[in-house]
Amino acid sequence: MDTYRELYVESPREIESLKQNVHRFAKEVLRPTSAELDRLADPRDVISLDSPLRRVFKSAYGLGYHVANMPTEIGGLGLRGLGAHVLLEELSWGAVDLALSILVASFPFSAAAASGNVELYQKFVKPFIDDREGSMIGCWAITEPQHGSDELVPGTPQFHNSRVSGQVIARADGDSYVISGQKAAWVSNGTLATHAALYLTTEPRSGMAGGGIAFVPLNLPGVSKGKPLNKLGQRALNQGEIFFDNVRIPRTWMLTGPDNYERELNRTLTFANSSMAAAFTGVARAAYEEALEYSKQRVQGGKTICEHQLVQKHLFEMFTKVEACRALSRAAVIYNQTSATPSLEHAIAAKTFCTQTCFEVASDALQIFGGNGLSKEYGVEKLFRDARASLIEDGTTDVLSLAGAYRILSQNAAGHSPVAD
Ligand SMILES: Cc1cc2nc3c(=O)[nH]c(=O)nc-3n(C[C@H](O)[C@H](O)[C@H](O)COP(=O)(O)OP(=O)(O)OC[C@H]3O[C@@H](n4cnc5c(N)ncnc54)[C@H](O)[C@@H]3O)c2cc1C
Repeated sequence: MDTYRELYVESPREIESLKQNVHRFAKEVLRPTSAELDRLADPRDVISLDSPLRRVFKSAYGLGYHVANMPTEIGGLGLRGLGAHVLLEELSWGAVDLALSILVASFPFSAAAASGNVELYQKFVKPFIDDREGSMIGCWAITEPQHGSDELVPGTPQFHNSRVSGQVIARADGDSYVISGQKAAWVSNGTLATHAALYLTTEPRSGMAGGGIAFVPLNLPGVSKGKPLNKLGQRALNQGEIFFDNVRIPRTWMLTGPDNYERELNRTLTFANSSMAAAFTGVARAAYEEALEYSKQRVQGGKTICEHQLVQKHLFEMFTKVEACRALSRAAVIYNQTSATPSLEHAIAAKTFCTQTCFEVASDALQIFGGNGLSKEYGVEKLFRDARASLIEDGTTDVLSLAGAYRILSQNAAGHSPVAD
């Protein structure tokens, strides 16, 4: 049960040791593998059985990173707060696409574990915890072909509009639910996943709020997959559609019904937004470090470019932005993972700030590389592409900002910051 207990992190020394271990994995495994996968023209090759992606999953699971957020009592690493932030920043410093693929792989299993459902635990969660091969891979399936942004605004009037409801419907039938519909090509790990945390509609007349969260093994009759998505950045993060044609699950595998759907979606989004903030702090740091190093090598006008004062100014601004990202994302992760009353608006603030800032830092880094920044021979153009995707991923900056604005306006909580206090 407590295989990974020795890795449980609490003290500053343990945090430092975790950081060093994860950094080594990120540098030696994630970064080179992500670069290799990024170069593959056909996304089907990324997930083929002999793809290096499979070795990444095997190594990550061997180190226990797939159960990073699960409690030590059931065999997880028990990383919460600072430990969780350090893990995500370091993994994403190496390669954010692979870091997110590993993070989302645990999603349905963590949700099932948290539900306390004994059958799901014995049948799926425990084998996942014990998986050393990386053969059980989860996904979070919420986006639909006709519903992206409007799935992610719980608590707003728009979410309760009875004329707008989801496309994947679960119908109660005796002891079962029968599920039909389609999830969009944007589901991370979509064509690779063996299990899904499926966010679906159980009461269409309640609009997007009439939802549920089901644990669904993706080998059930009636499940099929689309082809892997070809995209601009984060190319090692597999994505693709999942189709459900009268897929039958026991009623007990519906983890959340409409009564609690909004609350649980809030919780999910708080976790996701805080995690994205930590991840893109890692990407911003990677871009800054690349630019710093390059500026010490490249000679122009008889001196290294870091000797030019304007380059120095740009480097210092990048440094400041990375530090600001880390401060805000750490505050959001630590508060939201250790508090009984998580704050979605603080998580959104961290996500929108860190992804936008990361994009700016990646763009500045590319500029410091000059023409070489555009070349595939240098890693910085990949960081730029990876950063660009983050402004849409898990909610666009505009829509998340509107959801955050709605929350602060309806709470009238000026001057009070539980996250910073
Ligand atoms: C790299 C990546 C990973 C992802 N991973 C997952 C995953 O694991 N699981 C999953 O289910 N989904 C995932 N997604 C999907 C992601 O959450 C959606 O792409 C996102 O929510 C936006 O939805 P959309 O693409 O349908 O855009 P749309 O919702 O169609 O938005 C299009 C444009 O309209 C704007 N807009 C929409 N509504 C409003 C409004 N009310 N007011 C103002 N402007 C508005 C948006 O800001 C945007 O500019 C991922 C996406 C990316 C890019």
